Amino acid sequence: MKKTAQRLPKNPAPQEWLAADLSQQYIASYKPFNFVDGEGVRCSLYVSGCKFNCPGCYNKVAQNFHFGTPYTEELEDQIINDLSQSYVQGLTLLGGEPFLNTQVCIRLAKRIRQEFGHTKDIWSWTGYTWDELMLESADKLELLSLIDILVDGRFLEAQKDLTLQFRGSANQRIIDVPKSLATGQVEIWANLVK
Ligand code: SF4
Repeated sequence: MKKTAQRLPKNPAPQEWLAADLSQQYIASYKPFNFVDGEGVRCSLYVSGCKFNCPGCYNKVAQNFHFGTPYTEELEDQIINDLSQSYVQGLTLLGGEPFLNTQVCIRLAKRIRQEFGHTKDIWSWTGYTWDELMLESADKLELLSLIDILVDGRFLEAQKDLTLQFRGSANQRIIDVPKSLATGQVEIWANLVK
């Protein structure tokens, strides 16, 4: 019997994909005050465009860099206003691929630091692994330096596990970014339960 080849996401070479070439600075959606995209009450920005093409992607429409609407100053002001609510813990970046939309994500993350310092945290999802990001372009490393928690790696159908906290497959990790940058190795989020 003929074997079916396992469908897998794409694997870019270091710096093969660049936001400067790909991003249209489009937003797939913005969801304020949700409880599912990280710890606490969060405001989530879904950027448009991702090239990993993971089979089983949770948001396939947002793989298109032209999907949705342009990021605007009005939306940014709304996000800042929503984040200013005392019960909101922070912002979550997801997509699409935040690290292929660094123009939008760096701008917003910097504004959050400007307005709130570190009283609001920033989480981001990415299809890149931590090790891949270490070999990536300056804009990706700049975005990483502005993030507190990173959920890394492609979604792999073969490792799918819906019981995991905040991630879809067992290869993905919830990483404490400042600690990992300081020690030079991946440090897992201290509040991880499973
Ligand atoms: S990295 Fe995320 S957004 Fe991109 S294709 Fe994979 S699951 Fe979808």
